[in-house]
Amino acid sequence: MKPRVGVSACLLGRAVRYDGSSKPHAWIMEELARRAELVPLCPELEAGLGVPRPPVRLVRVGRAVRARGVEEPELDVTERLNAWNRETEPLLDSLEALVLKSRSPSCGAGSVPLFSNAGEKVERTSGLFAAFAQQRFPNLWVVEESALEREAERQALLRRLGLQ
Ligand code: SF4
Repeated sequence: MKPRVGVSACLLGRAVRYDGSSKPHAWIMEELARRAELVPLCPELEAGLGVPRPPVRLVRVGRAVRARGVEEPELDVTERLNAWNRETEPLLDSLEALVLKSRSPSCGAGSVPLFSNAGEKVERTSGLFAAFAQQRFPNLWVVEESALEREAERQALLRRLGLQ
């Protein structure tokens, strides 16, 4: 049986980004897809935000992190995204790894700009889905597609999946 790997759907060429575009990643779609069962996930689409949708970014509000509109700061989709995250627990439990889109306020794993209420970039963090997955399933292997530009990271993922 092939190992199951959750993948940000935009990396598989699906037109699910906020502006209706995608970010196809050749190595994932060709090499990894031959050897693993890829499970497409798009937190923002599956939480019902639609395509196209207003872009959001992460904003620190007190001790909390909120997903708010870039152009419409009154738009706050945090609860919708967090509710969807909770529904994915059984699916996450069935996966051996996640390959996620960097810098996304949902999918990014450590590379996502976090803004202050005043609009200043204060640090980098993880998107709401990636943070949930990492906190709930600390043993799940999580890698951003940007890291997979490096051969060593590809090999590490394949080893983790028992494919090397
Ligand atoms: S980065 Fe994540 S939330 Fe954004 S389009 Fe890709 S799969 Fe969807």
